[in-house]
Amino acid sequence: MKNKKIGIMGGTFDPIHNGHLFIAEQVRIKYNLDKVLFIPSGQPPHKDGLNVSEAIHRYNMVNLAIASNDYFFSSLIEIDRKGNTYTIDTLKQLKTVYLDSEIYFIVGYDTIETIHTWKDYELLPEYTRFVVVSRTTQSAGNLINLTEDFLDKVDFFETPVIDISSTEIRQNIYNNKSITYMVDNQVERYIYKHNLYRAR
Ligand code: ATP
Ligand code: MG
Repeated sequence: MKNKKIGIMGGTFDPIHNGHLFIAEQVRIKYNLDKVLFIPSGQPPHKDGLNVSEAIHRYNMVNLAIASNDYFFSSLIEIDRKGNTYTIDTLKQLKTVYLDSEIYFIVGYDTIETIHTWKDYELLPEYTRFVVVSRTTQSAGNLINLTEDFLDKVDFFETPVIDISSTEIRQNIYNNKSITYMVDNQVERYIYKHNLYRAR
């Protein structure tokens, strides 16, 4: 019997926003997680690496955003790994650290719709359960690519839809629009201080 429950929030976090924080806290409470680890990606295989902010900025913003929550922690595990980031590698690595823990990987609905394209996707359920939270555009039809075995390890958790994305925040900055209350106040200050998202 595993005696600890660890939530994982993986993402580009460019930047981390209140949607991420809200769902992490909702899942933490619902599943009675002992902690939630926020893991900013290194070089994301699904995005043009050149368009992603430096890892250190994304990591610093995560730390600012989670500072007020005693259950939230950050991890450099993906940033420190060489080469492209693959979740399967992260989960294998975490298993060696959290021997006595059950892993709950928290994702938005858009992520589960494309998860079949991830490296060794069919092996992921050996290492984790998935908790899928609501996101703006979703329809169950988009899950046809997932096997029954995979879906056995997936929980759908209906949360209020928070219609915030990092893309929208980057666009707002670029267009001189407000991001106040979309991100943590400290994150907002960090973005302005370091002149992030001003150029495309
Ligand atoms: P981008 O627009 O750059 O893709 P994003 O807002 O989707 O950014 P990511 O870092 O890509 O943020 O997302 C990390 C994880 O958080 C993903 O599983 C994603 O589905 C989930 N997520 C992000 N924003 C929300 C939100 N507002 N509601 C629910 N889940 C979210
Ligand atoms: Mg995204």
